[in-house]
Amino acid sequence: MTTREIVTLPDSVLRLKARKVLAVDDEVRRLIDDMIETMRIAPGVGLAAPQVGDSRRVIVVEYAEPPEQEGEQVRSPKLYVLVNPEIVRHGQDLVTGVEGCLSVPGLIGQVERYDAATVKGLNRQGQSVRIKAAGWLARIFQHEIDHLDGTLFIDRASEVWQGEEKDIESIAAD
Ligand code: ZN
Repeated sequence: MTTREIVTLPDSVLRLKARKVLAVDDEVRRLIDDMIETMRIAPGVGLAAPQVGDSRRVIVVEYAEPPEQEGEQVRSPKLYVLVNPEIVRHGQDLVTGVEGCLSVPGLIGQVERYDAATVKGLNRQGQSVRIKAAGWLARIFQHEIDHLDGTLFIDRASEVWQGEEKDIESIAAD
């Protein structure tokens, strides 16, 4: 695995509509592995291929669901790899949360997202998978899939201000 450089604004690759992946082959798996490594080192909870300068429809997400009740053990993070991801269903309610982005350093903003989303795509082996996500995980998927269409959180944000991406989890927990 190799870490790839994270591209930031105003790089135009972030604004392209990414291409569909035709076959999940070894070359795509190499991209996936590099994206996982890059996301972990950044660190971030998700990464889309355009963020490493590759305009193809691939996302990786790694996130630990918060404990459902107080006193419950902290859950270990779960890794999701999705090629050609699509939101096939979403909740009716919109929720506001604070987001940042590794490609938009120094800014965070308040963004409305669906409270739940079902995402369909292909896994690392090219098999079809479907993930039902709610809460913060649903937000991460919506943010990453937006990247594949050239959309950044600042386009959707009702308010944007100076802040660091590392501050977000604590804001989200407020
Ligand atoms: Zn982002």
